[in-house]
Amino acid sequence: MRFDLLTIFPDFFRGPLDHGIVRRAREAGLVEIEVHDLRAFAHDRHRTVDDRPFGGGEGMVLKPEPIFECIESLQISSWEDRIAAGTGQTVVLLSAQGRRFDQAAAAELAGLDRIALICGRYEGVDERISEFVADREFSIGDYVLSGGELGAAVIVDAVTRLIPGAVGNQASTRQESFTLQQELLATEGPQSTCASGGLLDYPHYTRPADFRGMAVPEVLVSGDHEQIRLWRRRAALEKTFRNRPDLLDQVQLSDEDRELVAQIRRQADQLDIAAEADGSVL
Ligand code: SAH
Repeated sequence: MRFDLLTIFPDFFRGPLDHGIVRRAREAGLVEIEVHDLRAFAHDRHRTVDDRPFGGGEGMVLKPEPIFECIESLQISSWEDRIAAGTGQTVVLLSAQGRRFDQAAAAELAGLDRIALICGRYEGVDERISEFVADREFSIGDYVLSGGELGAAVIVDAVTRLIPGAVGNQASTRQESFTLQQELLATEGPQSTCASGGLLDYPHYTRPADFRGMAVPEVLVSGDHEQIRLWRRRAALEKTFRNRPDLLDQVQLSDEDRELVAQIRRQADQLDIAAEADGSVL
């Protein structure tokens, strides 16, 4: 897998991609990350990469020429071939107006072998990049950042850890938050009965079992695997119910899950009633 990052701040990537899993994946030759300074593709004396917007308005816009030239220098397959798919390559524009980047998108990108990421700045990037250069536009969340670099680092990280061999224990990446049931079924190897199946991950604890009087849930030290599985599933459902109820509508719940969700709902209702009786607001 090769990543090409196009930016006007190449130094930004010193650090974020030099630690942990991404660093090891680079060292092991599983991924190659090249950072390209867009200013190197500006031809005037001042190496200008931005200009005022046509039609007036605030701020500056990244010019198209340096980005077109940089992409051309990388010998990535043509826009038509990428759109037709099958080239295993993609050019992504980071943009607040893009499709939301999520775990399914990360899994899709992890199946490719070349990903170029264009980082915008200022008011954004000349729209011709979105129209004629990038074949995808991704947003990393519903907020506005000052540049695409953090988004690019997010995508490199999320994709790299899905590349076989990048994470020591490959099974662990299949059990995490958001991993969909279809992806689990599509992968080989032992299936964990605790896999998230599109829910949030269950809570994790490690030693000491009692820390300053805060004990880990007893069931986890009981050695009873069936009870542990049930506890984890319930905890994952509970956390999803509390923090991301939207995910519950998107996943296929088993009969056992539905029973657990019903229990969790009843409990939440009781808490609400108790809080109202108390006059306190939760
Ligand atoms: N005027 C734009 C925001 C520009 S922010 C708007 O209102 O949509 C400058 C650059 O930061 C963008 O070109 C993009 O590359 C990056 N950026 C900002 N928010 C982002 C987000 N949520 N996800 C990905 N990239 C983002």
